[in-house]
Amino acid sequence: MPKDKVEWKLIKATDVDADAQTMLGKVLAEDHTELIGKKIIALFRPESWSTQGTTGVVGTAKKVSVREKLLSSVDAVVILAWDWWQEAEEEPRTALLDHELSHLSVDDDGNLITVPHDFSGFARVIGRHGIWNSSLEKAQRAIQPRLLDVKPDPDAAEQAAREIKNAVSDFAQSVEDSEGIDSVKISSAEGSVTIGGK
Ligand SMILES: [Zn+2]
Repeated sequence: MPKDKVEWKLIKATDVDADAQTMLGKVLAEDHTELIGKKIIALFRPESWSTQGTTGVVGTAKKVSVREKLLSSVDAVVILAWDWWQEAEEEPRTALLDHELSHLSVDDDGNLITVPHDFSGFARVIGRHGIWNSSLEKAQRAIQPRLLDVKPDPDAAEQAAREIKNAVSDFAQSVEDSEGIDSVKISSAEGSVTIGGK
């Protein structure tokens, strides 16, 4: 599908990227089992869009209307931005589908319902005041174990080690340069500093 010549406003995922519908089914079966049996169709819009002041929206989930339900067997649609989807790796794609399916659930009678976000806020306010409400606490409980999973970047670690080594030898030199001291030995292994006087 040529990106520069979009002639459609909404298209079934199965018509442009059948994998998207397959992935949706997989995410549903793995993490949204309450939705099993509901017919949820992935659709694409050509580009990300704006809604309620938010730009760059790349996905949404909607229950179909009563009339649409009468005319088709579809229960809900997940609408995705084709431009984003094409560029995204598998993990963000899966996360987006997981996010959109999280907006759908069923009530006690098995009727499809929509679910709002369970946390929201401003990054700057979190920066200033920390985790200040229960919805952020919920997010924090989810994020913390992920942070501990982060693997150290070997290049960054090497760079940091080099900087520390340079800072230590600069310090040693500055002490040696000062009056009355002729040698400074700093051993990083033992963490000891030996200063020899004249
Ligand atoms: Zn959402």
